[in-house]
Amino acid sequence: MAEFHVISFDWKGFEPHLYYYDSASEEMKEHDLSKLDVNISHHANCVGNWYGREYQPCPHDNKVSQGNICQECASSFLPDLACTFEPRCDGEICANRFCQQEHVVYLAFHGEIAKVGMTTSRRINQRMIEQGCDAFSVLARIDGRASARKLEGSLSEKLGLRQRIRELESLFCMADAIPIEKIEARYVEIASEVENIGLRPEPLKILDDYPMKTPLASMPKPTRIEGQHKGKVIGLKGKFLIYENGGVKAINLQRVPGRFISTL
Ligand SMILES: [Zn+2]
Ligand SMILES: [Zn+2]
Repeated sequence: MAEFHVISFDWKGFEPHLYYYDSASEEMKEHDLSKLDVNISHHANCVGNWYGREYQPCPHDNKVSQGNICQECASSFLPDLACTFEPRCDGEICANRFCQQEHVVYLAFHGEIAKVGMTTSRRINQRMIEQGCDAFSVLARIDGRASARKLEGSLSEKLGLRQRIRELESLFCMADAIPIEKIEARYVEIASEVENIGLRPEPLKILDDYPMKTPLASMPKPTRIEGQHKGKVIGLKGKFLIYENGGVKAINLQRVPGRFISTL
């Protein structure tokens, strides 16, 4: 039984892609996400690096626990992994290119639940789709990663909005139709509070082109990542692949890169 190393799960627009490396043929291949019959390993190894179009597997097959890339493979584009996970600077401490880039602090809705977060301006649309949110608005644009994190924290506190949505909450939302009118009303309320602080929130954007229609028959039940997964694929939204096998179930595909998959 051949085992393949999963390298990435990402979205291009509203199309999800899972890529794995076939070390025998030294080729990157795309896994078909419309079917599900796969075994996923417990352990995870570094996903390696891209040099332009050339893929380079991790030279040491390093095991990883936080994230899915080792410091050595990340060094060319993320010289400081610590600053990536918890930003400390706007480019003055570390050599991460994106620490000094323009960032946005955003408001995102998962169903009716609102949260604030931050990312680089360049990544905002993709990031929102990766998170599977139903609507979002850019609240502020600001240079530097640490400054953006600070503004995120202060807006979260002033507006009483959280910075995280739990997996179960995202899944819970899928059992209902997307409450567009309630989201819009809540956006108007929050936007006016944000204006009072002196910022200019941008218009609300609705994201409703995911390859999965809600409401589902019931809330998807999260499954363990490792082990055998089999069933009829219902669709994908954000980090989740939703499938049916004696009930509606979900796998968090964001946790798969770095692990090994095999099909029986
Ligand atoms: Zn590596
Ligand atoms: Zn930094």
